[in-house]
Amino acid sequence: NSGLMQGKRGVILGVANNRSIAWGIAKACQAAGAEIALTYQGDALKKRVEPLAAELGALLLGHCDVTDAATIDAVFDVLKEKWGKIDFVVHAIAFADKDQLEGRYVDTTADNFSKSMLISCYSLTAVAQRAEKLMTDGGSIITLSYYGSEKWMPNYNVMGVAKAALEASVRYLAADLGEKAIRVNAISAGPIKTLAFAGIADSRLLLKYNEVNAPLRRNVTIEEVGDSSLYFLSDLSRGVTGEVHHVDAGYHVLGMKRPDAPDV
Ligand code: NAD
Repeated sequence: NSGLMQGKRGVILGVANNRSIAWGIAKACQAAGAEIALTYQGDALKKRVEPLAAELGALLLGHCDVTDAATIDAVFDVLKEKWGKIDFVVHAIAFADKDQLEGRYVDTTADNFSKSMLISCYSLTAVAQRAEKLMTDGGSIITLSYYGSEKWMPNYNVMGVAKAALEASVRYLAADLGEKAIRVNAISAGPIKTLAFAGIADSRLLLKYNEVNAPLRRNVTIEEVGDSSLYFLSDLSRGVTGEVHHVDAGYHVLGMKRPDAPDV
């Protein structure tokens, strides 16, 4: 892949630690020749992200909490000052109250619903608004979704609803920004053991079920999501926008559990 992203500069939002999907994408982009900028959410994560940024020679933009618009503006101001323009954005951010990532969706509170939608869905639009101004030669924006947007998955609850709205946002943003040659796509990743994923009740069952039933008979890694992201972030996909692309070892094609798969 070396050279695929040569001359491209972009910001990757959502690195929490070295197990984050955003980190897998950051490593792939850097190896393909891109210049990268990272943000972190709060001081607790700063300590984790600082050494990771150093490892990739990435620009560390500072604190960004998408519930605070001023912090989104602040990091895009730094980008404008340092680079003038950008070519890509990776949005790998989601949140829902842990106590509602279990049990019944019907019990979701209005507060948790609004917060989850703001952080996990609207933030893509908020980021696209800022990115549009800096993508003066066109660009590529990607976000991360999950199959729980399309079909019921146990305990995913409000996140499934937020991801459905996120995927719809991808289509609307793609239509709006296409005239500026800005493309917007989503990668729907299979389950991966990250900080966010561990917040879902019975997440180990989800991982195991996917592993034994997926056509490839295994789960995917952050490195594989990273490699797939290069297609969307580079010019290879210059004719593609508004797409939701599954990187899930094929799990989404199943209509039922494979009869030869072991019980979990
Ligand atoms: P992660 O915990 O490593 O990353 C989640 C990130 O969201 C963290 O960096 C966190 O700081 C950030 N975040 C949460 N609230 C925020 C806020 N208010 N402001 C700014 N940042 C905030 O977990 P991950 O699994 O790598 O998650 C990245 C994305 O991938 C999420 O959108 C997630 O839904 C999606 N995804 C994950 C899986 C999986 O199985 N892990 C599968 C499909 C999609």
